[in-house]
Amino acid sequence: FEDADAMGEEIVNNASVALQESKSNGKNQYQLFNESMRSRLTARLRLEQDLKIALQEGQFEVYFQPKINIETRRITGSEALVRWNHPEKGLVGPNDFIPLAEETGLISELGLWVLISSCVQAKAWIDKGNTPIPVSVNLSGRQLENGDIIEQVEQVLSQSGLSSQYLELEITESIIMKRPEEVILILHKLKKMGVKLSIDDFGTGYSSLNYLRKFPIDLLKIDKAFVRDIETNNEDRLIVKGIIALAKSLNLEVLAEGVETGEQQKLLVEEGCDYIQGYYIGKPMKAEEFEREFLLRNNNIEQISNYRK
Ligand code: C2E
Ligand code: CA
Ligand code: CA
Repeated sequence: FEDADAMGEEIVNNASVALQESKSNGKNQYQLFNESMRSRLTARLRLEQDLKIALQEGQFEVYFQPKINIETRRITGSEALVRWNHPEKGLVGPNDFIPLAEETGLISELGLWVLISSCVQAKAWIDKGNTPIPVSVNLSGRQLENGDIIEQVEQVLSQSGLSSQYLELEITESIIMKRPEEVILILHKLKKMGVKLSIDDFGTGYSSLNYLRKFPIDLLKIDKAFVRDIETNNEDRLIVKGIIALAKSLNLEVLAEGVETGEQQKLLVEEGCDYIQGYYIGKPMKAEEFEREFLLRNNNIEQISNYRK
């Protein structure tokens, strides 16, 4: 080091890098500085900056994935899944940016954007004369914490003109169970507005059955981790069976996600699952493709049997 000042500066810099890293790992931790931390922090800051630009410049796009009713074979809804059309990296999936958007608080703005876009799209499809189906939007924990989710949903519904029965909100089991007493109040308000509610990634969190009974929930979504090996892993099959039985006993509907094969679908039918979602039926796709491949066929009863059985 040239002088003591420069050395001091360097140490403070490194310490703050270590502090940032430690913060992002959670509370009550300490981290010693190392060079890879600096590059990780730089990458994070870069991504955060890029996310802000992406919001301003409209680089996000909502994709839609079909959900079908196992019995009638009809489309019962679509799930809105956000994608990032990155100018350099191309198409980026939510797992690569949602966590940071949550950490930085950008998720509030992004989540609202997804909500608006999804409702506007759903309404446009209905206005075109398609058989109406609800659109499901994922909510992050932050959006529930902010306290303005109720007003936001009200506004978005009234501005888009979408009837509340065609909006469904998906909230993960772990978010709900983190602060069940508060979430329950919000869910009741949403329910009163006529919005449908489902618990996402069910089976991965630790649901208290006592709470589950009190939540105004319509549907449980069985996490894809249990569906993946359902054909070969007897434990997974028993868990799926158990969740379906639980749902039925609570008068809830139940959907299995991540269904990739006909065999998996067959087992789920046997277990009495109501709905399925997964690559076997259709991947998340652009709005135009969803309309062409699923909505138009859904209008025409004779063509419904075309969906994979
Ligand atoms: P999720 O809500 O559990 O969504 C289901 C994920 O499983 C999606 O991943 C979907 O593309 C994928 N998937 C669907 N079918 C299959 C299948 O048959 N096999 C396999 N292996 N995967 C399947 P995606 O689109 O990458 O989204 C990942 C997660 O990002 C979502 O998980 C959700 O938690 C989050 N996410 C996506 N969009 C939003 C959003 O607008 N807001 C918030 N807060 N989170 C979002
Ligand atoms: Ca979901
Ligand atoms: Ca899920």
